[in-house]
Amino acid sequence: MVGISTSPWWSWTHGLMVRSYLPVINTLAKGLDIRLGHRVTNVVRRYNGVKVTVENGKTFIADAAIAELGVGLENKIILHFENVFWPNVEFLGVVAGISYGCSYFLNLHKAARHPVLVYMPSGRLAKDIEKMSDEAAANFAFVQLKKILPDASSPIQYLVSRWGSDINSLGEATSMCYPGSVHGAYSTGMMAAEDCRMRVLERYGELDLFQPVMGEMASLTIPLQISRM
Ligand SMILES: Cc1cc2nc3c(=O)[nH]c(=O)nc-3n(C[C@H](O)[C@H](O)[C@H](O)COP(=O)(O)OP(=O)(O)OC[C@H]3O[C@@H](n4cnc5c(N)ncnc54)[C@H](O)[C@@H]3O)c2cc1C
Repeated sequence: MVGISTSPWWSWTHGLMVRSYLPVINTLAKGLDIRLGHRVTNVVRRYNGVKVTVENGKTFIADAAIAELGVGLENKIILHFENVFWPNVEFLGVVAGISYGCSYFLNLHKAARHPVLVYMPSGRLAKDIEKMSDEAAANFAFVQLKKILPDASSPIQYLVSRWGSDINSLGEATSMCYPGSVHGAYSTGMMAAEDCRMRVLERYGELDLFQPVMGEMASLTIPLQISRM
């Protein structure tokens, strides 16, 4: 299947990363100075770069920082059921006259064989859902499901994300084309890095400032195992 596709891999339908994203993360992180456990609290632009302060007061000087990587909001309400009562499709959705009424569920049973549906509200609806209790949010999702499957049985467990108010996220879905996805995050991250490189280039005229990293990225190969859902 992989071999016959003429489109880029991120435009295929959903696939399951058999060995998780770890091989991708490990490969992309090679040669980079990544500090874990350093939550940034302040970024100040200086005449020759930026000063970054982290939670414990430590500071770092850098050439540039990404200032305007836009971010939207998408949340996930995960509903776990006793049994599967829905059709064997990838998504179940509702189309409505107003965007607030549109919604969709990802069928995790197709990939993970568990009786789980993931409701994914976005935009204003996702924001409003963050103000609800977990129970009210799960109930809201269930009401949406009932619009598709009136005989749906109630979930036995639920989990509600609040990415907009999580200080480690403050949102999700940076990409217009592939919102709320790893490939969307990757492509917008690459665009932001390129934008950053161009601005540094304009300001300092240093052609080779990012070239070691960007050059290595171009020649990266990451062995992946993807199972089609
Ligand atoms: C439950 C769940 C399931 C998902 N399933 C899929 C899926 O199947 N397929 C798919 O394509 N996408 C999926 N996604 C979406 C995908 O995980 C995200 O879109 C993607 O990880 C976003 O990448 P990112 O690099 O922008 O942000 P993140 O992966 O969130 O990385 C941001 C990092 O920055 C750190 N950070 C935050 N604030 C600070 C700070 N102030 N200082 C320093 N560090 C900070 C965070 O700790 C985090 O490590 C899922 C998301 C969730 C929550």
